[in-house]
Amino acid sequence: MLAYITRAYQLEWPKGGHLVNVSGYSNWAGAYSTSGDLIVTSSLDPDTTGSLGLESIFHEGMHQWDQPMLARLVRLSKEHQAPPPRNGITHALIWYTAAEAVKNSVRGHVGYADRLGMWKQNPNGGFKAGLDTYWKPYLDGKSTLDEALVGLLKS
Ligand SMILES: [Zn+2]
Repeated sequence: MLAYITRAYQLEWPKGGHLVNVSGYSNWAGAYSTSGDLIVTSSLDPDTTGSLGLESIFHEGMHQWDQPMLARLVRLSKEHQAPPPRNGITHALIWYTAAEAVKNSVRGHVGYADRLGMWKQNPNGGFKAGLDTYWKPYLDGKSTLDEALVGLLKS
């Protein structure tokens, strides 16, 4: 999981990892994180067990990359005359990438966004075609990070 997502984002994960606080209750979503590296996940929510729990804890850890990923997207939009990043783009990237990382390790995993129909709703739905067209081939080693992100910005 870690090798997959760090290769995808080309960012460093803290050597000591992220501390994940496990509590009976976290919030309505079953897990959350803050920009201050606070990650909380529920031990009782059925949606944070099994491979969904694996996706969830890496998803929350990946939010710590929101700022550097957004900065990269802003820079690329200026360098390539692409539209600026739309609201929700970093979250859509996380939904997609964390699910693909689990699928790479756990046969038959269905990611949260697919499971909950999030790709058919806003804001994630507006990114799905671009993620399928540009991000998935990148995850499969068929393009560069910047090519994939520029394609996503223009889609
Ligand atoms: Zn999230």
